[in-house]
Amino acid sequence: VPASPAVEIVPLGGLGEFGMNLMVVRSGDDALIVDCGLMFPSAEHLGVELILPDLSALDRLGTLHGVLVTHGHEDHLGAVPWLLTHHSLPVFATPYAASILRPRLKGRLPGLVDPLVELNPSGGPCRIGPFAVETFPVSHSIPHCLMAAIETPEGWIVHSGDFKLDPEPLDGVTTDLEALRTFAERGVLALLSDSTNAEVPGFTPPERRVGPELESRIREAPGRVFVTTFASNVYRIRQVAEAAVRAGRKLAVVGRSFERHVELGLKYGLLPLPAGLRVPVDAVGALPASEVVVLVTGSQGEPNSALARLALDRHRDLSLEPGDRLIHSARRIPGNEKAIQRVFNHVVTRGGTLVDARSGLLHVSGHASREEQALLLRTLRPKHFVPIHGEATQLAAHEDLALSCGLPRDRVHRLRSGDRLRFDGGRATLGEPVPVGHVFIDGTTDTLAWDALRDRRRVADDGLVVAVVSVGGDRRRRPDPEVLLRGFAHEDADGPLLDEARERLLELTADFSREEREDEGVLRGRVQQELKRFFRRRTGKRPLIVPVVVEF
Ligand SMILES: [Zn+2]
Ligand SMILES: [Zn+2]
Repeated sequence: VPASPAVEIVPLGGLGEFGMNLMVVRSGDDALIVDCGLMFPSAEHLGVELILPDLSALDRLGTLHGVLVTHGHEDHLGAVPWLLTHHSLPVFATPYAASILRPRLKGRLPGLVDPLVELNPSGGPCRIGPFAVETFPVSHSIPHCLMAAIETPEGWIVHSGDFKLDPEPLDGVTTDLEALRTFAERGVLALLSDSTNAEVPGFTPPERRVGPELESRIREAPGRVFVTTFASNVYRIRQVAEAAVRAGRKLAVVGRSFERHVELGLKYGLLPLPAGLRVPVDAVGALPASEVVVLVTGSQGEPNSALARLALDRHRDLSLEPGDRLIHSARRIPGNEKAIQRVFNHVVTRGGTLVDARSGLLHVSGHASREEQALLLRTLRPKHFVPIHGEATQLAAHEDLALSCGLPRDRVHRLRSGDRLRFDGGRATLGEPVPVGHVFIDGTTDTLAWDALRDRRRVADDGLVVAVVSVGGDRRRRPDPEVLLRGFAHEDADGPLLDEARERLLELTADFSREEREDEGVLRGRVQQELKRFFRRRTGKRPLIVPVVVEF
């Protein structure tokens, strides 16, 4: 391995996996990072709340000068607070993304001087250490998204960020192909481009097309309408609000993440809500059913979300009545299908009806489909191409697309996270890969440093709790919940503490409805939350809690 490579790109996440995007761009001994995101766990990650990329390789990738965040989605900025725990770096982000990041940085690193440098959401030049950077606005599914070009001695490296070519987005910010075409005259060494929809032919439909469908689905509903979508999709929130206005209904917003994005949407002038449209959640009950639309969080079936609670009749302010309608205006992210289906089942069991993307254009993707990806390739005319942001099949499809656009095979590079692609005199070669991996975090409020040994250390310090809950079968013959403790220094660990924990679980599960008992996701989530609180209060510790549900 040469001591000082000419120009190199090193993805530490996001290639061959969905989420935790992180790309290192190096020139000599200088480096910058584009995006530093996280991945959401699925059911098989017992007890894990967040997954971060292993950042240890950063120590050997030269002098870091900053992080450029392309936009505000979690898979692009979610791991920045952990990165800044070990590296003191400026963070370049658009105002919308900065507004998401700033409170989290304050929460995790209270003493830190604000590292955020706000970028113009309309694009333009900026400097990150020795690097000249040009940014371009792109359309996507959250406001203020950028594509970024980084100058190196070998030419410009363009990172697409997440993008699509919506011709008439609600905020009027289109991906400016003309500006990109002009820029390309400077010479693009490599394009690293979003592969999410590389397997989807044609163009992604414009966001605007969802509006009329939403409106007619709201209009025809006899009772209240609940709409769930991704909380950060301010454009969708806007269309739900506009549909509510046209259908003569009021709008309530339920769930912290929705409230946060509505607030940001208003702040940046992206959510023109007419006065008197919004009503507080606790006022919904007093309104006639045919005059209400409620936005609820939980489009991915998250067991502790407002929607899941509503579906199980566990919500504090709202309940689902027969005749109410749920509109699922979102994609089913792979891995979440079962959890989403369980929520749908609960809704229908309560007498509600369900409308989702299978019965009309109630959701469009935020990512470019094949024709749009091809257009970007033809516009930028890069010497080299690297598909990024996708699982293996998506990267492979994007590779094929680049070849069909006329790029020679030896200039299309299918990398995986950890690979190093080096550019030297116009030629590209693969270097020795760096270690990459997943770091599991349980508890977002935890202020401990990220570390590959993180969970093991927690078990060493605070112990491990395994909770076994039996479901199914005859109630009288079903065994009581069982709790196993390991590595507890607490004096009561063998006797009273264990008995109390068991007692807590018994009370908790006795209170479950049949539906809750049959929903593994809810069971696990509830058991974990309960035991976490219990051990925190009783011992001051935060053991790793592993809920196990056994079919009896
Ligand atoms: Zn995104
Ligand atoms: Zn993304």
